[in-house]
Amino acid sequence: MTTDFEALLDAMDGVALVIDRDLKIQSVGIRNWQAFWCENGGTRPDDAQIIGRTITDAFTPGSVRNTFRQMFADLFAGQRASLRLDYRCDAPNERRVMRLSVTPIRARDQGEIRHLLYQSVLIDSEQRPPLALFGAPATGLKRPDILRICCVCAKVATPAPGAEGQQQWLDAEDYYAQGGQEVSMLSHGFCEPCATKLLADDRAVGHLEH
Ligand SMILES: [Zn+2]
Repeated sequence: MTTDFEALLDAMDGVALVIDRDLKIQSVGIRNWQAFWCENGGTRPDDAQIIGRTITDAFTPGSVRNTFRQMFADLFAGQRASLRLDYRCDAPNERRVMRLSVTPIRARDQGEIRHLLYQSVLIDSEQRPPLALFGAPATGLKRPDILRICCVCAKVATPAPGAEGQQQWLDAEDYYAQGGQEVSMLSHGFCEPCATKLLADDRAVGHLEH
């Protein structure tokens, strides 16, 4: 079974993984995984460095990791048919849109769902003048001195003018245009529209933290 997955995953675009019910990575399309890793500044890994890892460890701790863990659980439980999400994954000088698809793999007898197919593909990219905040490291911490960024649409939370305690979500370009300061760290979360969109597809993210 594992061998079948590997051959198939190697033929797919982007980062393609099969994860098991414990959310461990069971199989990977190694060619594209290695390319992805090197493009993101890593030295060439071997498959031993990813097989057996827990997929959710790759997500920022806190609300983002918890939300994805719950969505994967719902896929295994059959409470969600699939997950498809277009999300921003920018570098300072490049706007990038990725598409994540997570689809249950049923056993041959149409029985229980034992695995999920996880695929992340670059669908759009564009060079631009650098926006430094996209180079800041991300944390799960939620603190006033750490800029909150939506992990789906890449808007950042700033205090809303004239509405004490309220926040508005701005594109990074507008953040700087309105005098936003440079940031040393980012905190990943979900803006309200992105949270609502995820919620519409999945009952399980009702407790999602913004
Ligand atoms: Zn958003």
